[in-house]
Amino acid sequence: MQPMIIILKEGTDSSQGKSQIISNISACQAVAEAIRTTLGPRGMDKLIVDNRGKATISNDGATILKLLEIIHPAARTLVDIAKSQDAEVGDGTTSVVLLTVEILKNTKTFIEDGMHPTIIIRAIRKATALATKKVKEIAVYVKSDDAKEHRALLEKCAQTTLSSKLIARQREFFSKMVVDAVLMLDELLPLNMIGIKKVTGGSLEESRIVDGVAFKKTFSYAGFEMQHKKFLKPKIALLNIELELKAERDNAEIRLDNVAEYQKIVDAEWSILYDKLEKLHTAGVNVVLSKLPIGDVATQYFADRDMFCAGRVQEDDLKRTQKACGGAIITTVENLNEQSQQVMGTCEIFEEIQIGSERYNFFTGCPKAKTATMILRGGAEQFIDEVERSLHDAIMIVRRAVKNDSIVAGGGAIEMALSRTLRDYSRTVPGKEQLIIAAYAKAFEVIPRQLCENAGFDATNILNKLRQKHAENHMWFGVDIMHEDVSDNFTAAVWEPAVVKINAITAASEAACLILSVDETIKVPKSSAEPSNAAKAMNMA
Ligand code: ADP
Ligand code: MG
Repeated sequence: MQPMIIILKEGTDSSQGKSQIISNISACQAVAEAIRTTLGPRGMDKLIVDNRGKATISNDGATILKLLEIIHPAARTLVDIAKSQDAEVGDGTTSVVLLTVEILKNTKTFIEDGMHPTIIIRAIRKATALATKKVKEIAVYVKSDDAKEHRALLEKCAQTTLSSKLIARQREFFSKMVVDAVLMLDELLPLNMIGIKKVTGGSLEESRIVDGVAFKKTFSYAGFEMQHKKFLKPKIALLNIELELKAERDNAEIRLDNVAEYQKIVDAEWSILYDKLEKLHTAGVNVVLSKLPIGDVATQYFADRDMFCAGRVQEDDLKRTQKACGGAIITTVENLNEQSQQVMGTCEIFEEIQIGSERYNFFTGCPKAKTATMILRGGAEQFIDEVERSLHDAIMIVRRAVKNDSIVAGGGAIEMALSRTLRDYSRTVPGKEQLIIAAYAKAFEVIPRQLCENAGFDATNILNKLRQKHAENHMWFGVDIMHEDVSDNFTAAVWEPAVVKINAITAASEAACLILSVDETIKVPKSSAEPSNAAKAMNMA
């Protein structure tokens, strides 16, 4: 009799082989269905309600996939590549997922026919190298000597990104704003030096950009209204100190037997606080910002001496102010005096301004770091949230374009060009590889096809026209979203930075190879207190 060998815990689910690869591919296809319709200028948005009832409206592939909470292990790969595309280049997240799935779908038949995945993977790798090489070859370098021309280029890139978003109609307005913001930064273009603030109410066009730091007025006590709200070249103290009487608030226990003792404690509290306030005052500080609360006594004290204060300033705002205005965030005022200028920041103008129903503190003309703050206006909260995400994409794209100014035409043009090149190449290789590379080449067509489908065009017709144009060497022809036709998208200025495409192609191919190379999934059940039957059986033996 054969002995029974138990290796895995009871309840472990394991499936392997061809059928496992195919089932993984099917799972990925299901994920792609979820975001397919969001691609392009005519793409639809998705409304997702999470388990806490928070609604999000988005058109961004990475955001949607993140919120879907996919649990299928293979399909999670898609979520990961969308996220990494978002982090690396910031745009093209929907495209990268669609491309991966299309590559998988086109190679599925080979798996079904019993071809070994390794052969497929090798061919895909080869084709990927070829495709990225081609993108680099045909990408157009736009010189940045002429500042005006350079700006126009950047604005066009931002516009292409924004044209597929909720704010497509205001894309001119916002692309200017995005380019302004990016150009305000220093050479390294640090993303965290662009602050985005959202104020509900008002119209989108009331959004504005501030050349400096701005944040919402923090909670304040009585006395605040009497403070000065505008300073020229103020001395700014950035604190991590609580300016509040503590006794009533903290849960300390002190045993006293007479009133005088109590009075002493209260007096001590006051004098500690007054000491700190006086140090700030004599050092000539005009604006006091603190990460920690500033109480009513302190607020009144500052008001009496023509100083401005804001407590509970958010940490990232405080840090940005510090970077922009100079100085340091200090945790003690002990050594503060008029000589200690280096720990105090300054700027040209500090003022408090009313925006809609909210008040904002503005620091402009900052001497140290270059920074920009966008203040977004708009009706609903979900709406502004999506505007913020869209602008993030555009900012990333403009940064990319500033860093390496090579671009390709979008709207499916670059994809059709790659498809053609790879198809031509496939004819020169013999055997199975030819079939695989041809299938890979065809996968690129998913982008123009989906753009057509989302716009309600006859995709077959448009794709035929595109294939014909590309066969005639018109390599920048892509979908013309406005006129249900094809057009030269390079002259039509539908531009995307080449690195977005290169990153998308490599990431999609890598993910496809990864999914093709997994032929076994083993799922271990959650451990439970009760011993399983298998364990019992082994004990008995
Ligand atoms: P992703 O998350 O992949 O960036 P989008 O929804 O932003 O997805 O769609 C991007 C696609 O839409 C790109 O292929 C881009 O070339 C195309 N696209 C953007 N604007 C236009 C336009 N005006 N005409 C044609 N295609 C466009
Ligand atoms: Mg996009």
